Formats: sequence, structure tokens, C-alpha cells
Amino acid sequence: MPANRKLLVLAGDGIGPEAMRQVLRVVDWFDKRRAVRFEVTEDLVGGAAIDKHGTPLTDETMGRALSADAVLLGAVGGPKWDDLPFAKKPERGLLRLRKELDLFANLRPAVVFDPLVDASSLKPELVRGLDLMIVRELTGGVYFGSPRGIETLPGGGRRGINTQVYTDEEIRRVARVGFELARRRRNKVTSVEKANVMESGVLWREEVQALRDRDYADVELEHMYADNCAMQLVRKPKQFDVIVTDNLFGDLLSDCAAMLTGSLGMLPSASLGAADAGGRRRALYEPVHGTAPDIAGKDIANPLATLLSFAMLLRYSFDLADDADFIEGAVEDVLAGGFRTADIMGPGLRQVSTTAMGDEILKALDRRAA
Ligand code: NAD
Repeated sequence: MPANRKLLVLAGDGIGPEAMRQVLRVVDWFDKRRAVRFEVTEDLVGGAAIDKHGTPLTDETMGRALSADAVLLGAVGGPKWDDLPFAKKPERGLLRLRKELDLFANLRPAVVFDPLVDASSLKPELVRGLDLMIVRELTGGVYFGSPRGIETLPGGGRRGINTQVYTDEEIRRVARVGFELARRRRNKVTSVEKANVMESGVLWREEVQALRDRDYADVELEHMYADNCAMQLVRKPKQFDVIVTDNLFGDLLSDCAAMLTGSLGMLPSASLGAADAGGRRRALYEPVHGTAPDIAGKDIANPLATLLSFAMLLRYSFDLADDADFIEGAVEDVLAGGFRTADIMGPGLRQVSTTAMGDEILKALDRRAA
């Protein structure tokens, strides 16, 4: 069994380290029980790195991230560092990682675990069994395009400017990620833009269609306007398999899809970069939630979003789909057993601490392995 899978663990701030501790127990379990070995390096990011080194991400840590096969991150930030100048804030550490790893595709699954079906704001029949994936372009579009800024007009008024801009190559590389994912899932891609009112949307649609016709003719492709997609997500979300969209629409639609599942403490994510000559993709995995300063240090945070991020890491960085299924199955078992952290607690269920949730996950893994 290869032991040289290099994993950089950056637990970060707030509830990051508490949640990560439970995940590292699972990493250890995989090492001992499934002979899935990692060379784990732990390091600092965000406020924790500022406190120790005076910077949210040292060059050494950045170097470790660049040479790792995958990075697993907790979360960064908190009130302690809120007053720092923008360039020194904990979030800069995360932004530097994303930028220097060139992570252009953000994957946000929206999966409804059956025992949590009532946590959704939609009717159970609309979301039971939901399993969709949003692929958001992460490094281009209106958040980065120029010209940008706020200018003063001759008459004294002001004008704010941002520019939506995409090249054909930027569109193709993120669409490719979507098509590849669809092949491992239910083989359907919905490409989302506003080609009715935006030229960048016209280009998006043409490029995605041409790529599909050339390289992915086996994958079903449909095009949808972003406003309709938002509506369809809350009307009939199970029609989707993989949604591929730009940075701005992806930002909005992935949050909308997240709430179909009802609970921030359950949502993982992955950000992928380009594949190198050997097929290795730079990748960073992290829960969607932040550092939850209101509950940090109390051993009550939900560690499952971080654990499910680790499952994504197994699936997408190491092609260990069976092992990822194993973790997701254990999560389902624990939820079905009625164990809940405070954030997903309901009547008649058993409220457990972060650590106790880790205990239950390990027991469920043991049962599945028996
Ligand atoms: P948040 O996600 O940290 O918390 C929002 C609410 O959800 C809080 O009430 C919190 O207690 C709860 N919550 C979040 N995760 C939970 C979990 N795993 N278990 C139980 N409850 C959970 O968002 P926020 O309050 O807007 O931000 C707090 C800090 O986190 C800020 O400094 C912000 O900048 C940072 N942040 C970081 C990231 C990141 O590192 N990627 C993302 C979002 C926010």
C-alpha cells in the first residue's frame, strides 16, 4: 500500500482545530484498519499563524502546500484579528493558498442525508435523496475582471465599475472538471449563464457545447439561465446532477443549494487546480462554514463538514471512492442512530459533543469494517 500520500493539514482558528482533531482520528483509523496511509504534516494558517509568525501564511507553509498531494483546511478568522489591516487579516492566508495553488474549480456538493431530511426548508419529498454538485469557476469573472473601481464623475456623482470577463480557455478548463465529475456520477451537466443578456454568457454557452461535442459526447448537457436555475433549485432540485457555472452565479447558487440541505455544519467543499503532467491536481478541501467564534472551544461544534471534506479528498485527490463511501456511510449510520451535535439537534434525539460525535463515527466505521 502506498504510504507516500502527502497531506497538509491546516486546522486554522476557532472551531477549526476541534473539528480537525476528530478528522485526524479518522485518518488514523484508516491507517490502522484499511491500510490507507498518509504522510500527515500539520501547520498553521490564519489567526493562529499571525499569533506565532506575524503573518497568516508563512512561505514555508505555502511551500508545503505546493508540494503536498492535498491540503485539508479547517477555517480561518475571528474577532481577535478583526481590526488588523486588510492585507494582514487571517483570510489573506486562505486567499494566498487559493491563488498560488491556482484553484480554479470550486466543488460544492449538496447532499441530503436521509435522517436530516426535515432540516431542509423544502418539503421532504422534494429533497429526499438529493445529491447534486455545483462546480463554480473560482479565479475569473466579475470578481477579478478589470476595469474595476469607483470613480468620481464630472458632475460630482460617483460610478462603481466591475467587469465580467472570461476567456475560452478559462471556460473550457472548468467545464472539463464538470464533465469529468458527471462521468463518475449520473452523467448529466447543466451549464448555467445569462447568454440572453451577456456576451460572456454567449461565449460560455458556445465553448461548453463545443467541448461536450468534441470530448464528452457521452455526457448529457443542458444549458440554463442563472435566474431559472435559482428557481429550479428550490422547485425541483433533484433534476440536477452537476451544475457548472461562473464565479458570480456559482457564489449565489451554491449558497442557495447549500440551504436545501439545511445545515451549515454538514457542508464540505473542494477546490481543484490544473492537473500536472503526471495527472496530479492541486487541491484544497475545507468545510463551507467559518470558525464559529460563538461556540469555539466548547466542544459542541459539528465536525462532520470537515470529515466530509476529508471524504471528498479521498475521492477526488486519491481516487479512493470506496473509502470515501465508507466515511459517508458512517456519517449516515451515526445520524440514523439519532446522534446529533447541537446545530442539527431535534426532538427525541441524542445531543453529543464534538468529541463524542468523533467517538460515534469511529464506532460506525468499526461496525462497517467488521
Ligand atoms: P460561521 O460559519 O463561522 O458561523 C455561522 C453560524 O453557524 C454561527 O452561529 C456558528 O456557530 C454556526 N456554525 C458554523 N459552523 C458550525 C459547526 N461546524 N457546528 C455548529 N455550528 C456551526 O460564519 P460567521 O459567523 O459569519 O464567521 C465567523 C468567522 O469565520 C469570521 O471571522 C469569518 O471571517 C470566518 N469565516 C471563515 C471561513 C473560512 O475559513 N473559509 C468561511 C466563513 C467565515
